[in-house]
Formats: sequence, C-alpha cells, structure tokens
Amino acid sequence: MNAFSYTRALDIAGAVNEVSINGGAQFIAGGTNLIDLMKENVSRPNRLIDITRLPLNRIENTADGGLRLGALMTNAETAYNAEVEKHYPILSRAILSGASPQLRNMATNGGNLLQRTRCYYFYDTATACNKRARGTGCSALEGFNRIHAVLGASDQCIAVHPSDMCVALAALEAVVQVTGKNGQRAIALADFHRVPGETPDIDTDLHHDEIIVSIDLPAKGFAEHYAYLKVRDRMSYAFALVSVAVGLDISDGMINEARITLGGVAHKPWRNLEAEAVLKGKTATADHFQTVAETMMCNAKGYEHNRFKIELGKRAIVRALKHALQMGAAQ
Ligand code: SF4
Repeated sequence: MNAFSYTRALDIAGAVNEVSINGGAQFIAGGTNLIDLMKENVSRPNRLIDITRLPLNRIENTADGGLRLGALMTNAETAYNAEVEKHYPILSRAILSGASPQLRNMATNGGNLLQRTRCYYFYDTATACNKRARGTGCSALEGFNRIHAVLGASDQCIAVHPSDMCVALAALEAVVQVTGKNGQRAIALADFHRVPGETPDIDTDLHHDEIIVSIDLPAKGFAEHYAYLKVRDRMSYAFALVSVAVGLDISDGMINEARITLGGVAHKPWRNLEAEAVLKGKTATADHFQTVAETMMCNAKGYEHNRFKIELGKRAIVRALKHALQMGAAQ
C-alpha cells in the first residue's frame, strides 16, 4: 500500500473542493471495496477524503411520489427501510442477495454504484489488465473467463459489474443525483455505468470532481409483480453468474409494461428495450417469455469458459418472469 494523507470533509462543498484540487484524491465512505483495492495496490490514492459525516444518509419522499435515497445510507438501512420494502421490494431483494450482513452494514448506496469489477486479473498486479492500466492488455480474453461478460464487452475488456443493487435500480429507472465543481446534475442509472469500449479503465460517467448525493426512485415500484433472481456458485456471499431483475405492470391479465435487467453478464446492468417491448400489450405466456429471453441474449458472445452464461441467462430470464407473474415469489 502506498502512502496517503487523510482528511474528513465537513460539508459537501468542502468535499467537492478537496477532490477537485487533487487528481489523486478519492472519497471514502464504507470502504468495503476501496480498502481491498488499496491493499492490493490496484488503487493508489494519495489522499482519502472521508465523507462519512456528510448529511447524505437520509431517505425522503420526492415531489413526484418517488423516494430519494441518500448516498450515505448503508445498503442494510436501505434494504430494511419500510418504504423501500413496501414500494420497491425488488430493490430490497436485490440488496439482500449481495455480500454479507457485515458488508451491507458498512457499504453505502453511493459506494455500491462505484464498486469495481471482481475480475481476478484486475486485482492481480502481476498480470496485464486494461482496466487497471490502459493499453497493457486483457488477461481474461485468453485466460480463465468463467465469470466474465457475454454482452457489451470489447476486445479491451470483458469484465462485469458486480453489483446486485444496481441491477434493480436499472429496472426501476433510478436517477443518480451528483454535485460537482460545475453544479448539480442528474444521471439516469442506465447512463451511469459505461460499456468498456476502448477505455475500460473508466467505469462510470461520474467526473473526478463530483460526489453522488442521492439516488432517486420514480414512483413506479412494480411492487405487485417483481422478481430478483440471482444464480451463483453458492447461496450466499457470492457474486452473480447471472442475475435478473424483473418488474411487470399487469392489469386484466395483460402486460402494460415490463422491465427486465440482467446482472453478471456485462460491464453495466443490461437492459434491452426491444426485448421488453415484446411483452407490451401481451398476455403472460411461456412462449412470450421465451421470445423475450431469446431477444435479450441475441447478441451475446461467449468466451472459452463462460459460454454457459448464454443459455443460463435465457433460462434465468424465463424463470424470473414466471416468479414476477406469481407475485414476487421467493427465489
Ligand atoms: Fe482487466 Fe477487464 Fe481484462 Fe479483467 S476483463 S483483465 S478487468 S481488462
């Protein structure tokens, strides 16, 4: 671990100012990913700005009937909040399927969005990795790539985003509110994380001088028909091989709207609007669900060790849709 200085931010403006004058500075809150990255010499900030005392740990109702989740609420506080459980159970379910209780007690909502891939090579500084150091190569392309992407990857990086929470947030069409030197802006969750392209070292659209202040949930929470299905190697404390968040708006047996987001298969939570449109105005039948699954995965490309994810993804999509139809039955 390299040497770094430490300071505690007293207000948001001070935190933004601290980070904006030092390109090597980073915010720290729960630290559940950053500390690991620092121990492995993957992240080497020269200054840590502790933001845990900032007033960003509240939950509020929004004017449009939604909910505003403070960036510094812990994942556990969010998952067990009565409003979230009642109106956005898909989010509670996704959060509680991730990490461990101890980690969820420390990890913050903002940090969850910013956690980095768990690609083995990214954490191993003896190997080539374009995400760690652009232009050095990608060890996963010809290496052990069982956990890697089958959608949206590039020849520079095939890593996946590890979050469960973000998969549900994408399905809910959440909006990330950020503040920086140039003021505030709102970023749709769908645009927050990037595909790797030629610059896999850049994970998100967040600028260095910006801080996440909240995550806004729209009023529509799909609380009646939802599912979060996570397929993994063991039943707890494991990242998703494939996960699926589903929200269905159904009336009189007809699907008015479907939201389907995949995790564990791409560099970002993966939606396919064309696949979702398949269900619009349709009755919920096994045939339609299979068509959705085929459409969601039609551009998938497997590598030596992860081709199984394509068929697994299709089956998981159909199963999650069936669960959602059955009122968010347990997975
Ligand atoms: Fe690095 Fe991405 Fe390749 Fe993993 S997949 S080794 S993170 S460039």
